[in-house]
Amino acid sequence: MSLTLRQAESYVRLAERWGVRGFPGSMIPNTERLFGIWFRPNDQVLFDAEEGTLAEIEANLAFGKAHMGKGDGRIQPMMSPHACDTHTPATMAALAAAADELGTGLHIHLSQGRQETDDVRRLWGKTPTEWLESFGFFTNGPVFGAHMSGLDWKIDAPILAKHGVVYSHCPSAGGAGNGTQPYPEALAAGMNVNIGIDTHSNDYLEDLKLAVLYGQARHSLRRQLDPDGQPTVRPTVWNAVDAATRIPAKGLGRDDLGVIKPGARADMISVDVSGMLVGSGALPPEPLNNLLYANGRMVRTAMTDGRLQVYDSHFVADNEMDVLANGGKVVEKVWAQLADEGWFTETAR
Ligand SMILES: [Zn+2]
Repeated sequence: MSLTLRQAESYVRLAERWGVRGFPGSMIPNTERLFGIWFRPNDQVLFDAEEGTLAEIEANLAFGKAHMGKGDGRIQPMMSPHACDTHTPATMAALAAAADELGTGLHIHLSQGRQETDDVRRLWGKTPTEWLESFGFFTNGPVFGAHMSGLDWKIDAPILAKHGVVYSHCPSAGGAGNGTQPYPEALAAGMNVNIGIDTHSNDYLEDLKLAVLYGQARHSLRRQLDPDGQPTVRPTVWNAVDAATRIPAKGLGRDDLGVIKPGARADMISVDVSGMLVGSGALPPEPLNNLLYANGRMVRTAMTDGRLQVYDSHFVADNEMDVLANGGKVVEKVWAQLADEGWFTETAR
């Protein structure tokens, strides 16, 4: 979920060049409009924003159609509304029609917090999950919902499990150390859970570790304190690897992804789990457990559709040094602008 359509366009440009498999879309409302609507002083702001949001839905649909199937079918744009609390019945209906037309489903932030669930209930008499269901989203293609910290477990979890909706659990969301999320509850409720990056830590192995470690800590604390009797399951690295491979592939309705078998796409990584800091110099009998001591630097190989993107631990889809130099120039510009605006002064802290 890109922050703007411009960012989504950049994503497609690079994803195509580097051979990445991607399901892009821009957040609707995008971040140039989002915060005024999300943190609105009253609901009139939401209704006044309707026309602009409808225009964004149309622009995103056009983006989706323009890029659908690019990169030998690897680029599959999806509709990507921000969340239910920044939409109205009219924009939800337009999103449902656009998602139908694209045919690739949607990804959305779903019950990110208690406030979202309360706001949607107050306005429309339903939880965000019930509201999505009422527009037919769950029966018309894949749905990936991120965060879900404010879910009504009794009402929502059975609906999500029934339709095979994927909970995109992003353990580093909001930045590392920003609290734990209901991964153990979702496992206990029989939901399909995928682990996402939320672009806070872009080291996916770190995110898998965080999901397991945060999840185990949350499970133990909840068992001790039992705040609401909600059952939990203690996540393991086996759950996390499933959450990185088979579960999201199934959620996308793709039996040629997330598995290694004849006829599947050759999307694979290899990780060295026998070297220094991670292993012991020998091939371990339970190699997945060693991932709990690994990070992205231990990735030896990454390939999509059989095309190597990382080889012998080096990024080979482009010139690594050029990518870093160009990225550095851009962020230095952003930092200079922030410095000019006084964000790095003593008072700003
Ligand atoms: Zn997020």
